[in-house]
Order: sequence, then C-alpha cells, then structure tokens
Amino acid sequence: MSTELLIKQIFLYPRPFILTGAGVSTESGIPDFRGSGGLWERIDPMEVFSAWAFKHHPEKLYQHSKEVFGTILEALPNAAHNVLGEWQQKRIIGPIVTQNIDNLHQKGGAFWVYEVHGHIRTATCSRCGKTVQDMQEIIKEQETGVVVPRCADCGGVLKPDVILFGDAMPEDYMYAVKMAEIFNHFPQVVLVVGSSLAVSPINSFPLSFEELDIINNAPTLLDQEAYIIINGLAGKILMEMHKMLIDFNGGK
Ligand code: NAD
Repeated sequence: MSTELLIKQIFLYPRPFILTGAGVSTESGIPDFRGSGGLWERIDPMEVFSAWAFKHHPEKLYQHSKEVFGTILEALPNAAHNVLGEWQQKRIIGPIVTQNIDNLHQKGGAFWVYEVHGHIRTATCSRCGKTVQDMQEIIKEQETGVVVPRCADCGGVLKPDVILFGDAMPEDYMYAVKMAEIFNHFPQVVLVVGSSLAVSPINSFPLSFEELDIINNAPTLLDQEAYIIINGLAGKILMEMHKMLIDFNGGK
C-alpha cells in the first residue's frame, strides 16, 4: 500500500487518533522488547519488570535502571515523534495514545498524550504515595552501587511510575478509552505506529474504531483487522507523509 493512500485515508476523518509503541522510538536508539535485539532477549521481564519481582527484590530493577531507564531518559525524539508533534500542534490529529514510557512524544512537541503504561519521569513511594522523586536523580544515585531509593516519610520503596507486568492500568488508560468513546460518536480512524499489538488490554483499543491503519516494520496481531498496512520504518514513512501533506497544502 502507498503512503499517499494512507495520508488521503486518515485525513478523511476529522481528528485521527494515533496509537504508538516501542517501534516509534527505536530510531531514537531505544530498543523495543520483541523485535530482534530487543530487551527481552537479554532480560527475563518476569524476574525484573513484574509487580511480583519488584515487591520481592526491587534491587533487580534498580540494577538495570541505568541501562534501561538511563538510556531512555537521555534519548532524543526522532522524525516520527517530530512529525506527530507538529501535526498535533497544527490540530490535524487528535490524541496520541502511547504504550511508551520514554516521554519522547512530548519532547517532539506533542501536548495531548495518554501514557497508558506510565512514564519514567518520576518514581513514587509504593507504600504511602507521598514522596515523588525525579528518576534522573535516582539513576545518578546508582553510580555508587545499587541503591533501592526509599521514601523519606515512611521508608517505603520508591517505584518508577511505569506499569510493571501484573500492575493495574493507570488513569491515563481510562482517559484514553473515554476519549475514544467520545470521538467514536462519529466514524473515526486510529493509526497504529510501531507496535506489535501483542500487549493487552491496549491491543483491543483499536477495535473500537471504524478504521484501523498500521505502520510497522513487521506483522502485528491485528493485521487482519487493518484497512491499510504499511511495512517500513516509522520515521521514514511519517516523514514521507509529512512532505506529501505540505505539497498538498501548497508548501505550508
Ligand atoms: P513491541 O516491542 O512489542 O513491538 C514493537 C514493534 O515495532 C515490533 O513489531 C517491531 O518490529 C516494530 N518496529 C521496531 N522498530 C520499528 C521502526 N523503526 N519502524 C516501524 N516499526 C518498528 O512493542 P509494543 O507493542 O510497544 O509493546 C511492548 C511494551 O514495551 C509496551 O508496553 C511498552 O510500554 C514497552 N516498551 C517501551 C519502550 C519505550 O518507551 N520506548 C521501549 C521498549 C518497550
């Protein structure tokens, strides 16, 4: 399928929804989980990134915090984030619902983002919820050896504000679903970018839309439900679409 068809198709709808996953950020140097070379090839997620693991041995997560969270915090937005950010500023797309925790949509100029798996800007006390600390500071503290950060008030362990396997979904997930319900009052489209759509419950989110289109460099679990699928790199394809849109719009 062509990028020209995709751009004509998504802008048939008033405010296309965007749903992104780890594949939108690989061009920023953050590995995805399931692609080749992905994180899961080296780290057993259930041993490190599950709610159970964090409860019983939080030091395992903090052992990997510099490698995983440090790299993510230092990453810069790529063409895909920048294009989506600009489209949102121009009000030609609706909300961006992201499974990513990396803050890169906001760094790329987006202001309306639902982070359905949380974010790594901060960590919060898992016992009293009062202490909130910057993740940058926590990672810096790890330079002298693994430190499990604790709440100054109650001594509870600080947990990064991301969803671990087995955690409940955060408020942003409920807001994203609610917003989709409102938008879906009229036929609406969702464009998925860089996700295998293997993670539930968010992988059923696209099914509430009239139309699903996908940009991904590998098959996804919802390919059979999609109207348009473009197999390729997110940054390259979104940039092509952006240039086309500017051409259609007389260079503006
Ligand atoms: P996933 O790893 O399951 O799927 C990513 C998909 O993107 C794969 O199909 C891969 O082939 C494709 N892909 C990789 N690079 C691409 C590119 N440049 N262009 C187009 N496609 C590309 O990721 P997911 O569906 O988001 O689910 C995994 C979970 O991992 C999510 O919950 C997310 O929170 C978390 N995660 C987040 C980050 C991040 O914040 N950047 C990184 C890794 C994992």
